[in-house]
Amino acid sequence: MSKTENKKTSILIIYTGGTIGMVQSLQTGTLAPVKFDKILDEVPELNKFNFNIKTIIFNPVLDSSNVGPSEWVKIARAIEKNYNSFDGFVILHGTDTMAYTASALSFIFENLDKPIILTGSQLPIGTLRTDGKENLITSLEIAAAKKNGKSMVPEVCIYFEFKLFRGNRTVKRDADQFSAFHSVNYPTLAVAGVDIRYSPEYIYYPENKGILKVNTNFDDNVVILKIFPGINEKVFKSILNTPGLKGVVLETFGSGNVPTSRWLLNCIKRAIKKNIVILNITQCEGGRVAMGQYETSLELLSIGVVSGKDMTSEAAIAKLMFLLGQDMSVDEIKMYLNKSLQGEISE
Ligand code: ASP
Repeated sequence: MSKTENKKTSILIIYTGGTIGMVQSLQTGTLAPVKFDKILDEVPELNKFNFNIKTIIFNPVLDSSNVGPSEWVKIARAIEKNYNSFDGFVILHGTDTMAYTASALSFIFENLDKPIILTGSQLPIGTLRTDGKENLITSLEIAAAKKNGKSMVPEVCIYFEFKLFRGNRTVKRDADQFSAFHSVNYPTLAVAGVDIRYSPEYIYYPENKGILKVNTNFDDNVVILKIFPGINEKVFKSILNTPGLKGVVLETFGSGNVPTSRWLLNCIKRAIKKNIVILNITQCEGGRVAMGQYETSLELLSIGVVSGKDMTSEAAIAKLMFLLGQDMSVDEIKMYLNKSLQGEISE
């Protein structure tokens, strides 16, 4: 047997926090994160894996409402530092902002050729009916899975409730159901039943891999602005006039439509003149922005609003922050917003 064949699979778990590792406070009844050793005690099954599992634990562990760009970078740095020593990475993370973190990580890593699987749970791992055990165990299997010596899923993914999704296509859809996530505009990458069935036709396997690049600059001078019937002129204007604002994810109706009020379109026009990037994303769960299909989106197209096509809002805001953080002109940013960087958009 050659040396490489002999080598035991190694997986790095990065525990950031989330319900999976929370316990209920006896005093207040609220859920708060606990130490990782407690989690391992709850899952003795992990000892049955025939691979090396190491863990890095965030200090402090976080509810994912407190995870943002600096934590995305912290996760990315931990992976970068350990990239060559492990076959795959599992990130335990709260579900609330998991789709944002997964999107951000997908943009951070260029030339990724190992799996980064985010998972968590709706019920703490110490509770009887927890979904955390299955999510963790199957995520580890997926992170370790190889075919002909290469990772089965060399992507940033979310695994939850028997399904593996491309991370930057995923949205948290339910606060109570075990199936907390879905990916409406892109098929699942694998389904776990008796076997884990992968769909290689939907998994990204780049032909010529360069070396791993880790781009960690994000610019947070951005906002997600959801259009609604009766939106107020003063409020809308004041948001677009925020000093230092560089980018807006405009969540519009249907296929990218907004009210045709003159004040609204003029306001957007002025923002674009000031080099603020406006990215049009649909409020619908599925489908895509098609500016010009209706009169109510035609002018957006002509004044220079960028189409986010079928991107999720989570991917869109992470991508906008990422591109604004790179050393690029506004025209370049607009060009890349419209194109797939990491499979987040259908061109
Ligand atoms: N509030 C928790 C978090 O996002 C929810 C969860 O993990 O499911 O950290």
